[in-house]
Formats: sequence, C-alpha cells, structure tokens
Amino acid sequence: MPTKLLFRDDFYLSTCEANVTAVHDNGAIELDQTCFYATSGGQPGDNGFLEREDGSRINLDVTVTGADKSVILHMPFEGEPRPEIGEKLVCHVNWPRRYKLMRMHTACHLLSVVCPYPITGASVSEDDSRVDFDMSETIDKADITAKLMALVNENHPIYVQWITDEELAANPGIVKSKNVRPPTGMGRISLVCIGENASIDSQPCGGTHVSETQEVGAIHIGKIEKKGKENRRFRIRFVEAPAN
Ligand SMILES: [Zn+2]
Repeated sequence: MPTKLLFRDDFYLSTCEANVTAVHDNGAIELDQTCFYATSGGQPGDNGFLEREDGSRINLDVTVTGADKSVILHMPFEGEPRPEIGEKLVCHVNWPRRYKLMRMHTACHLLSVVCPYPITGASVSEDDSRVDFDMSETIDKADITAKLMALVNENHPIYVQWITDEELAANPGIVKSKNVRPPTGMGRISLVCIGENASIDSQPCGGTHVSETQEVGAIHIGKIEKKGKENRRFRIRFVEAPAN
C-alpha cells in the first residue's frame, strides 16, 4: 500500500498519527501515512521515534524508500520492539536534526544560484554539505560566501510549485543537475522556487526546504576542492554562533 507522504505538503510537520500497515522480516515498518522524509536526492532520511499507545517508543535509525518508490520504510535500531499490524502510533521526527538538514539543503539551492554551473553531485548533512560543479574556473570562496549571505539576509520566500511532466519537458533549461534527471512518470513534479515569482531560482527537487532564506542562518564556504580538471567540490558549513 502506498504511504501517504505528509511531508510533501508541509515541510514543518514534525509529528503525525499513523497506522501500521506492514512489518518486514528485517524490522522495516510501513505506515499508512508519515511525516518522516526518506533518503533521496542527496538528503538523508529522518530518524526519530514512533510512540505507542502505552507511551513506549520504537526508536528509528533511518527512513528509506522501498523497492517500490511509493512505499516508505521506517527502519528501527536493532533490538527495538516490533509493532502489530493495525497498531496506531504517533510519528516523531528528530526535529532539530531535520531542521538543520532543511537549512543545509536550502543553502545548496542558494549556492547553485551564485555559482551557476552544471551540478554533478550533491550531498546534504547536518553540519556540512557538498555540491560538485562541472567547472574549471577558480573562484574565491570569500566572494561566494558574501553572495550567499546576501541572499540569506534578503529573506526571499521559498515555495513549491507543482508542474506536469509535459511542462518540464517543455522547459528543459530549469534542470541544473547534469547527471540526475528529475523523476518523471508520476504526473507531477515539485519545483522549488526562491523569490517572488521564482525571481531568484526554480529547480525540480523532492527534498525539504525552509520557507524563507533567512532561516538558513549564517553559513560559509568551508573549502573548494579541485576534483579533476573540470570538477570543483564546494563545502558549505554553518558558522558557529560566537561564544558569549
Ligand atoms: Zn532541494
């Protein structure tokens, strides 16, 4: 049974009720609906816990998509209790971690605005993200950091617009990733837009993002590595809050 993806319509949903629809031999739990984001598109899946009716917890290590992409698998740590089919649970996403991932993921989009080269790879994590660009130019990281922080401080709105496969096919230029094509065939694609009327950017992406650029907070380019003649790897990091 396909899992209803509540995080699709509300990136800020950190808890929801759900019913257990299947439990696999390896412990993977399927629910009728979920607010847990499953690993995809360079963004790691959520962890957190499932709260049972008696208040006890099933702690989750990670969330992934099943072989059939319409199903989400909630993976408990080894030794965690197994729920019954039909059991009612409350999902609790590890919100501090997810919110950092949303900020970092959004920062990757901003980087693709200030560094407009084809993207060959990206990986988001809580404290450090990397984006690989197909480029041979030498770029000053302080200059890129200043441009990123200008976009953050201008506090542009970020929103999702759904487009059809046909609309995407008619506008191939909106895809910045060189190797990865956005998933088509589901009839609709989520376009992540930054700025009023997408004035800053729009990009097909199924990840979770913050709703205003200011929420990204203070970030900087930690380093730019040369990975081959025509590949540059940028590392984005949060700036530590000054100790006081
Ligand atoms: Zn994204």
